[in-house]
Amino acid sequence: MTHKLSACCPTGVDVEQLFSDWFDDGVAVLMSEYNTNGPVEVAVAPPISRDAQEKLRQNDFNVTVVAQDVEQLFSASPSIFRQTKKITDAFLELREVENFLDELVVKHPDQARVKQIGKTENGTPIHMMIIKSQISPAASLAGANNVSPVVFLDSGTHAREWLSVSTSLYAIQQLLEQPSSPARQVEWRIVPVVNPDGYAYSWNTVGIGSSRRPCSDIFRGPAAFSEPETRAVRDAFLEVRSEVKGYISLHSYSQVIMLPWSYQPDVHPNLKNMVLQ
Ligand SMILES: [Zn+2]
Repeated sequence: MTHKLSACCPTGVDVEQLFSDWFDDGVAVLMSEYNTNGPVEVAVAPPISRDAQEKLRQNDFNVTVVAQDVEQLFSASPSIFRQTKKITDAFLELREVENFLDELVVKHPDQARVKQIGKTENGTPIHMMIIKSQISPAASLAGANNVSPVVFLDSGTHAREWLSVSTSLYAIQQLLEQPSSPARQVEWRIVPVVNPDGYAYSWNTVGIGSSRRPCSDIFRGPAAFSEPETRAVRDAFLEVRSEVKGYISLHSYSQVIMLPWSYQPDVHPNLKNMVLQ
């Protein structure tokens, strides 16, 4: 089964309703900038491909096909990584992500460690990489006694957003290889794969996420922190809460930086400081 990637510009419709209808039809909206009248990119998978494409055409949304077969774009990447060992060459499977982190800890034992912060429903461990600050020789690796300013970063919350995982692994590698970088004046706490079960599932299952599937991009659980993954991240955050100076959550894909409150048009009272700092 192949996924076709298309771009279109919905105009003159209730876009939220449209996306909801598309989702029911198996059409995944990958990027939307409809608030600024920009293009929307959607992945369309058979067997509904023809119907969905027809719907787009009927609405005169100026559809263009970006890629005929999305899988083909990255199917060769794992074998390339095994040869080059460069994180920018390939997406890594969950097991390879764990190995990647372990190897970095072996290489930089005085700078980094991996901590298990929880387990998924299936018992899969959720790991966090701690990279100590270079201005705190007392070693922020000490955990609860940490005194360094901390920046939190997570990725891989939404299973199919593989690029977010690769981006945080690349950041981890760069931070460790450049200890004199200004970025090393803080301690980094990075959870590369918040949702390891979903990530593994998305590697082994062809399909677009839905509420019936573990790699859903919209599943939020029945209540805040109802899921073991979000509880694990919350608890890891609270452990160093008073030291946290920033929190970054990586997703893909769009060319946007979203600051609170991103779910509603009101401006956050502290927006100016968030942008300037
Ligand atoms: Zn996401």
